[in-house]
Amino acid sequence: MAKWVLTFGDGKAEGSAEMRDLLGGKGANLAEMANIGLPVPPGFTITTEVCTHYYANGRSYPAELEAQVAAGLRHIEAVTARGFGDAENPLLVSVRSGSRASMPGMMDTILNLGLNDQTVEALAKNADDRRFAYDSYRRFIQMYSNVVLDLDHDLFEDLLETAKEKKGVTEDTELDVEDLAKLVKGYKAAVERDSGKPFPQDPAEQLWGAISAVFASWMNPRAITYRRLNQIPESWGTAVNVQAMVFGNMGETSATGVAFTRNPSTGENRLYGEFLVNAQGEDVVAGIRTPQPITEAARAEGKVRAPSLETRMPEAFKEFAIVANRLEQHYRDMQDLEFTVERGKLWMLQARNGKRTAKAALKIAVDLVNEGVLTKEEAIERIDPASLDQLLHPTIDPKAERKIIASGLPASPGAAQGEIVFSSEAAEEAVAGKEGKKVILVRTETSPEDIHGMHVAAGILTTRGGMTSHAAVVARGMGKPCVSGAGSLRIDEKAGTLTVGGKVFRAGDVLTIDGSAGQVLDGAVAMIKPELSGDFAALMGWADEVRRMKVRANAETPADARAARGFGAEGIGLSRTEHMFFDDERIVAVREMILADDVEGRRKALAKLLPFQRSDFRELFEIMKGLPVTIRLLDPPLHEFLPHGDKEVAAVAEAMGADPDKLRSRAAELHEFNPMLGFRGCRLAIAFPEIAEMQARAIFEAAVEAAKATGEPVTCEVMVPLVVGRADFDFVKARIDAVAKAVEAETSGTLVYQVGTMIELPRAALMAAEIAETAEFFSFGTNDLTQTALGISRDDAAPFLSHYVDKKLLPYDPFVTIDREGVGELVAIGCERGRSVRPKIKLGICGEHGGDPASIAFCEEVGLDYVSCSPFRVPIARLAAAQATLRARKALRTQDAA
Ligand code: ADP
Ligand code: MG
Ligand code: MG
Repeated sequence: MAKWVLTFGDGKAEGSAEMRDLLGGKGANLAEMANIGLPVPPGFTITTEVCTHYYANGRSYPAELEAQVAAGLRHIEAVTARGFGDAENPLLVSVRSGSRASMPGMMDTILNLGLNDQTVEALAKNADDRRFAYDSYRRFIQMYSNVVLDLDHDLFEDLLETAKEKKGVTEDTELDVEDLAKLVKGYKAAVERDSGKPFPQDPAEQLWGAISAVFASWMNPRAITYRRLNQIPESWGTAVNVQAMVFGNMGETSATGVAFTRNPSTGENRLYGEFLVNAQGEDVVAGIRTPQPITEAARAEGKVRAPSLETRMPEAFKEFAIVANRLEQHYRDMQDLEFTVERGKLWMLQARNGKRTAKAALKIAVDLVNEGVLTKEEAIERIDPASLDQLLHPTIDPKAERKIIASGLPASPGAAQGEIVFSSEAAEEAVAGKEGKKVILVRTETSPEDIHGMHVAAGILTTRGGMTSHAAVVARGMGKPCVSGAGSLRIDEKAGTLTVGGKVFRAGDVLTIDGSAGQVLDGAVAMIKPELSGDFAALMGWADEVRRMKVRANAETPADARAARGFGAEGIGLSRTEHMFFDDERIVAVREMILADDVEGRRKALAKLLPFQRSDFRELFEIMKGLPVTIRLLDPPLHEFLPHGDKEVAAVAEAMGADPDKLRSRAAELHEFNPMLGFRGCRLAIAFPEIAEMQARAIFEAAVEAAKATGEPVTCEVMVPLVVGRADFDFVKARIDAVAKAVEAETSGTLVYQVGTMIELPRAALMAAEIAETAEFFSFGTNDLTQTALGISRDDAAPFLSHYVDKKLLPYDPFVTIDREGVGELVAIGCERGRSVRPKIKLGICGEHGGDPASIAFCEEVGLDYVSCSPFRVPIARLAAAQATLRARKALRTQDAA
């Protein structure tokens, strides 16, 4: 018979951590914790296969499920010695969702299920304090009504607030049992009024209502959005965990909390967390009361007045610290833990690998290697290359003056600045607008509905909530700077104002937040680039030892080239010479060249450009000192260098001393209907060989000069763009070689250079064998190759490409990640045919894909020698390349074993 339900608790479990796909992360880890003998309230997990069945069969359950759930309940009853619905000694349970990947805040948990008018009395009778029973009941009605019956939270919050106001108190805990019993009555009446039915009293009905709500929540819009943003497949489904309740709200010796085994912001190896006395479930996360630190050290450091768990409940704390350490050793990773203390006894409710900032991830991985827990290879595999981007983010210049207007918690590090927006809609609007503004999303507290706004914001600021609030957790996951719980700020959403100490800020005013210090600063404060030493350098060093492919940068300006070297680039894979044409002095010569009537005229203009190009190249060669530098000949169509519009034409003509009519008519002549497929690339060199000759001369003369200046031989690679086959390549190559000979004769030296080509047209990929007869290297220009293979102009793709991705007609944007099946096949063909003629041909990639980890994995598979990407992506590429090498090695090993 199919097994749809697996039990855990009492020192053993039917499942384990390995069964994550079937049990979801929460269920698998509850089973694992039970197996290793940790105190876990008993329960059972309804598998993800039931979810799949549920959606495949018109939202219905497998026939055997009911009996298996009943058996699961009997298991809990046996371990706890309580009865579900029992009027004397009632068992209460929580119903918790949990999919394979953690989806924080996406699905709702119901606590205290099993309470009704009868069992609440039994609970009250058995408790030290009758308040506890009615407090649990009112929480249950509220949660159940919200999650299962779809009634608004505010309905209950309003009643609660009214009750507190009447009594003249501010805290829920100050209400007495009569108040709470009255509140329960009020809640039930509200439910009956709003849903048309009395609140369900039958525990079995409650349980099935809750189970169905969890399965249904898999398809709620929040969950769908979260899955989309995190690439979680819908087919995974969620599991449902039903677990005996333990109570953190049983009075002053009870508490509930969350903790990380290391600091998730900095990675510091110290227990880090928050708790609340006499509280239940999500009170800590919801930010309703301000939680207290777990350790005494953190309390002292944060100058928090309320006692830490360590002093408040020393026995429970000691046990928790041991359990935390044990779990970290067991899982060999930093853990995110949920626990409850019920009358002094510790219960573990959740363990999972903790989400962390990139900075913390690095420190933790490096520390775990130094502690002997992980190997260097494992540490390399642990870090998401894309997350390194966070470390390359700016921080606030320490020399800058900080006008601090408020302080909150350092919820997610890095600095950000932008205009204030008060809603996610406003954030999206401002960012999507023409000016592409940067915004700081300012909210009282965020909720899953805000995900889209958080996604586009530069930073997030909240006035309520702790380090584990929704805003903090999600921001860290996204790598966005966040300050949470800046309590002195007053938001008036209606008026669109943010007030602090008498000063009023409005939507559109600029703020800077420092997510590392938890500060909110007035105006745009100076920021600086990050430091790439310490753990970062250590991990990068390990990655460099492992990876096979080289990593180069796409750079043409000295600043970019220097940045690239700083980030560890091993050469330049693409230098776009035309970027050097736009300088004020040069553009005049470029335009003269374009306007010239004959070769002589063009040569005269080009002669003016030569010294500029030569000194640019020389600087590049000197910065890259001995490392290979690939220089691409002029690529864009000439009309890009001409002015457009009458006013501009007139101004340029005057400055050049040229005839405006001539300028206008030349621009008209050069107009193209489809410039991407037009008069560009090597087609320019074929029509006007003198352009290529000037560039080649500039390159070679610069190489001679730079070699002399640095004492290091220059390895230069001259790259011909947009060839369709060998013939056009050879035509340009002949010109380049001739210039090289001439320069060698003039300087009586020998040049070390190669001439190769971009492979960026499908025909070139197919003709790779012929081209390789004379080309010494290929660089796959995957931007153009994607455009030409898919017949999609990237600049025009926005209105339709997203439809392809949304409707799943393409798995992802092919301009971000290389289209393996199509473009990838052309690359593979190019490599194979090129190597068939020239086995050692140097192969690289210089499209945007060169900095995309998934595309880098592909580059490893086809055996490219290097990837080249923008300077800021070089570290990402170094790590991704190392991971790709490790994966390839593993694949080889399994192949050998088979
Ligand atoms: P989430 O995935 O949103 O963290 P959880 O299922 O972990 O949801 O539950 C939310 C809160 O309820 C957590 O603080 C958790 O510790 C608490 N909780 C869940 N089950 C129980 C239980 N059986 N007894 C006491 N508290 C529980
Ligand atoms: Mg939840
Ligand atoms: Mg949880």
